[in-house]
Amino acid sequence: MNPYNIKIQTALVSPGGLSLYHALIKNKEKKEFDVEIFERDSAPEDRWQGYHITLNARGIVSLLNCVPSSIALNLPKAILNPIPDVESHRIMVSDDTGSALLQPPNNQHRLREILLEGVPVRWDKKCIGYEETKEGVWVKFENGSRELCDILVGADGINSSVRNQKLPELKPLNYGVTQVNANVSVPKHLMDRLIKVHGNSLVQETLGLNGDWTFLLFRLIPIEQESDDKKKNDSDEIHYRLTLAYSYPKKLDESDDIKVDDNDPASVIERVKELTRKLRPANEMTDVLLGLWELAPKTSPTDSEKENCPFKTYNPIQRRELRDIDPLSITTWTSNRITLLGDAAHAMNPVLGLGTNNAFQDADILSQALLNGSSEDLIPCIQKYENEMRKRSSADKEGSSKKSSQVARSSTTTGRSSTNKCR
Ligand SMILES: Cc1cc2nc3c(=O)[nH]c(=O)nc-3n(C[C@H](O)[C@H](O)[C@H](O)COP(=O)(O)OP(=O)(O)OC[C@H]3O[C@@H](n4cnc5c(N)ncnc54)[C@H](O)[C@@H]3O)c2cc1C
Repeated sequence: MNPYNIKIQTALVSPGGLSLYHALIKNKEKKEFDVEIFERDSAPEDRWQGYHITLNARGIVSLLNCVPSSIALNLPKAILNPIPDVESHRIMVSDDTGSALLQPPNNQHRLREILLEGVPVRWDKKCIGYEETKEGVWVKFENGSRELCDILVGADGINSSVRNQKLPELKPLNYGVTQVNANVSVPKHLMDRLIKVHGNSLVQETLGLNGDWTFLLFRLIPIEQESDDKKKNDSDEIHYRLTLAYSYPKKLDESDDIKVDDNDPASVIERVKELTRKLRPANEMTDVLLGLWELAPKTSPTDSEKENCPFKTYNPIQRRELRDIDPLSITTWTSNRITLLGDAAHAMNPVLGLGTNNAFQDADILSQALLNGSSEDLIPCIQKYENEMRKRSSADKEGSSKKSSQVARSSTTTGRSSTNKCR
C-alpha cells in the first residue's frame, strides 16, 4: 500500500502540528502516512516561542494519545525551573489510587523543543497558498517551490495562509483590546510594597478606572535559592520572578500623537507607564505598578543575556491585540483535502489558557479519524474531525471571550473601589 502523503504546514511551537505528526507516525503499523512539516522560520531559535501554558485534563489526555512514550517520558523536562526539595512548580496528575500518571508541561518553549525531537522539519518554507488538482494538492511556497500531497493541514496559527485561501470569510475578530506583557525580576522591597497593598495571592488582577486592567503572576521563592540558578543580582537584595500584563482599550492608541514603536521596548514601556498615570488614581497601587514596569528590560537582550532573564527566555515587550476566531461564525464550511488545525481554525484569547489544549485535541481527533477511517475516501474522515473541532473549539472560544469581556466591563463599572475588592 502506498503511504498517504500528508503535508502539515506548521512548526516550532506549533503544538498542534507537531503532535499530529507524532500521532500519525507512531501508528504506522496501522496505516502508513508520509508526513512532512513545513515552517516559515529558518531555524528553531529564530523567534521567541514560549509562554507559560496550563494544560487541562482534555489537553493532557490528547497530548498523551498523540506522542510516543519516548516523548511522553521527556514531558516533565518542560516544567519551568523545578526547585528540588523546596517547592514543586508542577501539577501532578494521578490515577484514582494516587499513582502518578503525568506532570504536565507548563513551559511552551521547552515543550516545543521536546515535541521537535526526531521531527524532520523543512525550515524556511513559507507557504503562500495552494492549488487543488486531480493529482492532489500543490502547496506553494514563497521561494517559488511547490510540493504535492494528498492532504494539506494548515496548522499555521492565527494568520494562517491556508485559512485565508480556504475560508476567506473566516476572519479573526478584533476585541479592541491591546495587551503588553513583560517578565521582571523584582527586588524584595518592591515585592513587600505590592503584598502590603494587594495581598500575597500569587495571581492578581487590578482593575483600572477606564477599561484598563493589569494581571500579575509571581513567585515568592527568591531567584537565588534555585539550585540551577546561582547567579546573583547586582545587589545582595533578594529578587523574585513576576509576570506583568497590562491591557487597555486599543482606541487609546489611535490618535496621531501616539508614537510607539513595537520594535523598541523602551517606547512600549513608556506608553504603558503614561497610560497607567493617566487612567489610574495617584496612590500606592499605581506607584507599585509603575515601579514594576520600570524594571522591564528597555532593550532586547542578546542571546547570552537571555540566560539572566527572570524566566531564562525573553518575551519581546510589544503591544499585542487580543483577537479570536469562531469556526462556527460561518455557515458554509466545505470539507475537502485541505483542513485546518489549532489557532488557524479557532484562535482564542489567552485569558482561559485553552488554545494549546484545543490544538492537542484537534491533533488527537484528526489522527484518529484518519487512522480509523476508510483508506479509499479520506474526505469523510476530515469532515468528521471538522464537525467535532468546530463545535468544541467554538464553545471554548466563547468562554474565553466572555471572561475577557467581564474583566473589561468590571474594569469600567467598578471604578475606583475595584482595587480594594481584589484583596
Ligand atoms: C500570552 C499567551 C498565553 C497563553 N497561554 C496558554 C495556556 O495557558 N494554555 C493554552 O492551552 N494555550 C495558551 N495560549 C495559546 C497557545 O499559545 C496557542 O493556542 C497555540 O500556540 C496554538 O498552537 P498552533 O498549533 O495552532 O500553532 P502556533 O503556535 O500558532 O504556531 C504556528 C506555526 O506556524 C508557522 N507559520 C505561520 N505562518 C506560516 C506560513 N505561511 N508558512 C509556514 N509556516 C507558518 C509559525 O511560524 C508557527 O511556528 C497562550 C497564548 C498566549 C499569546
